[in-house]
Amino acid sequence: MNHSDLTPVDVTIIGGGPTGLYSTYYAGLRGMSCRLIESLPYLGGRLSALYPEKYIYDVAGFPKILAKDLVSALEQQAFYHSPEMIMNETVNHLHKEDDIYTLETKSGKKFASRTLIITSGIGSYSFRKHPHPEAKNWEGKGLEYQILNKNQYKGKKIVILGGGDSALDWALDMLPIAKSVTLIHRNAQFRGLDSQVNELRNSSATILMESEIIDFIGSDKLECLKVLTPLGEKTISVDGCIIFFGLHSSLGGLKNWGLKIEHSDICVNSCMETQLPGVYAAGDGVTYEGKLKLISVGFSEGAIAVNRAKTFLNPKSKFQPIHSTTIMENSSHERK
Ligand SMILES: Cc1cc2nc3c(=O)[nH]c(=O)nc-3n(C[C@H](O)[C@H](O)[C@H](O)COP(=O)(O)OP(=O)(O)OC[C@H]3O[C@@H](n4cnc5c(N)ncnc54)[C@H](O)[C@@H]3O)c2cc1C
Repeated sequence: MNHSDLTPVDVTIIGGGPTGLYSTYYAGLRGMSCRLIESLPYLGGRLSALYPEKYIYDVAGFPKILAKDLVSALEQQAFYHSPEMIMNETVNHLHKEDDIYTLETKSGKKFASRTLIITSGIGSYSFRKHPHPEAKNWEGKGLEYQILNKNQYKGKKIVILGGGDSALDWALDMLPIAKSVTLIHRNAQFRGLDSQVNELRNSSATILMESEIIDFIGSDKLECLKVLTPLGEKTISVDGCIIFFGLHSSLGGLKNWGLKIEHSDICVNSCMETQLPGVYAAGDGVTYEGKLKLISVGFSEGAIAVNRAKTFLNPKSKFQPIHSTTIMENSSHERK
């Protein structure tokens, strides 16, 4: 249950993306009591929000894995040591008294912790919406801002809006599944990779450049889109319209915590330490020389942050843990 809890845990992880989930597992491995707070109603960060049905090829040990399957595996691993999971709460304020940090969420709930690991990625985010005043009335009735299950469009006529990587990527991905794919972009040029643009131009997709939707038509669900193209108005019959206009993201209250921030990223040293004692950060939301914004890099940063938090709480404990086999096989959560 999401209620305030002023009993301090050893570590609180802020953000349940891949970095936060792996850090949660690692905190359990190091015998730390752990609470994870996530602003969305689901875990997995951008893998769940933006590309659950896409394959990832560059996570060690998985030559190819669907993003949603990687999230399921990370969740399973994160839950080994029964951490406390607080969903639908956005951490906003930070207060410190007698070596204990108190986090306050946007809804006013308070949580106490001895150390913190910020794994908030690009911050809390929401989808950039279509500006047409009617668009919001069609959300969930044929108009979507993400594809959570691509099979729902099997044999359907779909329209994809946008000109960046996500729009191009999804248009290509949906070609073998959908009955038809129309890509609409309001500008004369795409922002995505030339290779993808060429692949699309040589495919069965219909591409409408310098075009925009001027009306959404339907009864209970979206049936047609009226589109203004350079050649005049056109009405397109649709089963689904998916809009990829990017995300609004915000660090929110985190930027007032006294952390050093460069271009919206939290500056950390090689131990993932921030400017505040006992506060660490890892994943896509951090910067240091040589930083790579990749899932695999977030995993190792999470492990470093947790081990550092462990020695911060107990300077006698080892920074370098012993083998996971030894720890897991001696724990009550032994892998069956
Ligand atoms: C289309 C696409 C394809 C990609 N493909 C690959 C790939 O093939 N390989 C690869 O390595 N990387 C890929 N990436 C990048 C990868 O998604 C990121 O590196 C990864 O998501 C970073 O994980 P994270 O946990 O640091 O951040 P995120 O995934 O952004 O998760 C951060 C979480 O923190 C939560 N949060 C933020 N602020 C707060 C707050 N104040 N309170 C509570 N919760 C908060 C957010 O809601 C979110 O769930 C891709 C990215 C995109 C967009």
